[in-house]
Amino acid sequence: MAAIKLENVDFYYDRGQPAEVHALKDVNLSIETGDYTSFFGPSGCGKSTMLYVIAGVERPDTGKIFVNGRDLMEFSQKELAIYRQIGIGIIFQNFNLIPSIKIVENVTLPMAFLGISLEKRKERAMEILGRLGIADLAERYPYELSGGQQQRVGIARALANDPPIILADEPIGNLDSANAQNVLDLLKEFNEKDGKTIIMVTHEAWSLRDVRRIFYMKDGAVIKTEVKKPDTQKKPVTESRARTLFPDLPTLEMKAKAMAGLILRGYSQLEIKRLEYFLAHRFAGKIDKEVFQMVLDRPYNQGGVGLWRQKAEKIADQVEEIISEEGALAAIYKKLEKEPTAPLMSEVENIRKWILEDFRSKLSPLQAERLNEIIAERIRHIITPDNFRRILDLGKEKGGVGFKTRTSFQIADRMEAILGGGGAESASSLAAAG
Ligand code: ADP
Ligand code: MG
Repeated sequence: MAAIKLENVDFYYDRGQPAEVHALKDVNLSIETGDYTSFFGPSGCGKSTMLYVIAGVERPDTGKIFVNGRDLMEFSQKELAIYRQIGIGIIFQNFNLIPSIKIVENVTLPMAFLGISLEKRKERAMEILGRLGIADLAERYPYELSGGQQQRVGIARALANDPPIILADEPIGNLDSANAQNVLDLLKEFNEKDGKTIIMVTHEAWSLRDVRRIFYMKDGAVIKTEVKKPDTQKKPVTESRARTLFPDLPTLEMKAKAMAGLILRGYSQLEIKRLEYFLAHRFAGKIDKEVFQMVLDRPYNQGGVGLWRQKAEKIADQVEEIISEEGALAAIYKKLEKEPTAPLMSEVENIRKWILEDFRSKLSPLQAERLNEIIAERIRHIITPDNFRRILDLGKEKGGVGFKTRTSFQIADRMEAILGGGGAESASSLAAAG
């Protein structure tokens, strides 16, 4: 199945205004899992926009985008966040490291929301840095590194959550030729050895040396597709290596086990085991919601779980939600959401405190969580400053943080200040690159 498929995609900047730019024009293409592809064309032809759209950062005005066969437009906010956090890794021309934190922390940051302990995150970061030959730089700061070294850190960060798809926007644009060759070697290795799907944007023909499929772009349109090496030469990628975007659904039993413990935290093992049993039955469709709720409510010594009525109702509702959202990722995300002890990256917490310094009102837990989420996304440059501010401003019921407009501007400014690059300038670096 295609990892990414675009159907009749059009994208405009400033649509309907005098400055309107028709940046993507009726794009139809398909990128196979495990392929190494490139968007190639002159500056301004829409390459970066194409990556934005594939990354779910920008929504096309018309047309459809499918990720592993699923319509990206139909992803819930949560699924979109998950897709951005673990489905893709992005490498930037300008590296986009956070200047105020160490190299190792730049790499651990994207793992903040996966519920991995700090110790494990560090372990994994060191492993990746080691693979890229820069483990000895872990305790340094970005400004102490050369461009080539910084780009390796950028690559390590993109790999942090082991995403099946890597998007690289002019990754060698700011490197000398030796370092550029080096980065290309790495991309090739990730593709061949790890089975990663690579999508690289470039305007330099020589950097297409290992690419298998080239999409030539001009004025927002894909004008030609070239397969450089026939597919038959494509190294077979083993099943386990050709990772698909959504990890396999855990077995129903595993899911039931994880959930039961979570729902009945503090209850006895016997009660948890019994809930687990009924959950597995409900997941498998062997009992319906009504029966499920009934057995939750039934006294323990009569074969039920022995919960009081309201709690039984609430749990039954939650479980239905999880079933209807289907897929392992949604379930994992829900778990994190409900797990107060899930470790949260201290950097994100610190940044949040810092940007809220003069903010008097108290945040609700939901607001705090959303804020953490978008801080992590903004840090990784997977949302733009504008979108960051918009989400701050957007009502809670619409998935935003629900701040007043003026507050949103102030807080967004602080966020950009902490990112170092003079806000707007660093923000547009991705769009302007190339
Ligand atoms: P490339 O990466 O190939 O250089 P881009 O995708 O950055 O091209 O830009 C495609 C077109 O869209 C260009 O005409 C560019 O000026 C315009 N553009 C890019 N970003 C923005 C933006 N944020 N607002 C308005 N126009 C933009
Ligand atoms: Mg560009």
